[in-house]
Amino acid sequence: MRAGGVSKIRLTSSLEGGRIQVQMPERRFLREVEASALELGEASALSDADKELLALALQLKPLGQVELVSDDYSVQNMAEALGIGYRGLTTRGIRRRFRWLLYCPGCRRVFETPPPDGLCPYCGSEVRRKPVEAHPLRGRKTP
Ligand SMILES: [Zn+2]
Repeated sequence: MRAGGVSKIRLTSSLEGGRIQVQMPERRFLREVEASALELGEASALSDADKELLALALQLKPLGQVELVSDDYSVQNMAEALGIGYRGLTTRGIRRRFRWLLYCPGCRRVFETPPPDGLCPYCGSEVRRKPVEAHPLRGRKTP
């Protein structure tokens, strides 16, 4: 994760004909974002700035068309879950939900679900993750 996530994320809105002033979201929207982040396993992947922006988008959504512009997969995943419009800056954005591949950099084990505390139960390393596109499997028969 790079610091300074604000610069790579933009929130566009028809409210003010494009860019909106950065403002602090109301707490309840921030809480909603945080709850959703926990649910999706995105909590550790999002910076405070990311969460604030998502909360702001959520807050502004009823007032007009709001679109998040971000290449951050976690932000896009959150936007998708929260029903916020989004697109990528350089990529076309995720077209469908993806899932995370959770893996241990220490012993190379792969996990289906995040282990408690995010630590590998076998070697204690911090479990990392990378996005895996949730393509429907082609040409393979499900057993
Ligand atoms: Zn391990």
